Amino acid sequence: MSTVIINAGSNRGDRRLNLSRALREIGERFGAFEMSHALVSEPWGFESTHKFLNVCFVVNTDKTPEEVLDELQEIEKKISPAPHRGVDGSYLDRVLDLDIVAIDDLVIDTERLKVPHPHLAERRFFLEPLAEVAPGWRHPVTGKTADEMLSELKED
Ligand code: ADP
Ligand code: MG
Repeated sequence: MSTVIINAGSNRGDRRLNLSRALREIGERFGAFEMSHALVSEPWGFESTHKFLNVCFVVNTDKTPEEVLDELQEIEKKISPAPHRGVDGSYLDRVLDLDIVAIDDLVIDTERLKVPHPHLAERRFFLEPLAEVAPGWRHPVTGKTADEMLSELKED
């Protein structure tokens, strides 16, 4: 059984409804989950006037990491088939983004899946809710907790 920490974000359409629908799907596929508070964040890595609503949650599962990603991508597509990236690879506004933040102390570095999420230490909207749901978790490569990574983030 592994513990998977997932971050859900939405900055298009009815953000609260999009996240609620995503969480219902998560419950159906993974069972009970623990959830952080929701926070509003600025788009990261692209320009948009639409802020994100983010929430982090924790599931326990026997699925492999790739199967977890398959499930998350199915949920993303079910809730909105619109692409997340432009033809040039740039980020776009998105109805629903489901990212795997961490899986226990696993390190995965394949083309399809990188765990812990490669931008974890740079994204306040990953770190703040992570500190809430998994305060004792440490990044398996740097050894840092979410709070330690947060204190190293420059004020923006
Ligand atoms: P972001 O990197 O901000 O989540 P996208 O949602 O556009 O941007 O990226 C989606 C791609 O990221 C997918 O093709 C997926 O295979 C890949 N990916 C790599 N690592 C992860 C991860 N930890 N969680 C979710 N998707 C991942
Ligand atoms: Mg994503």
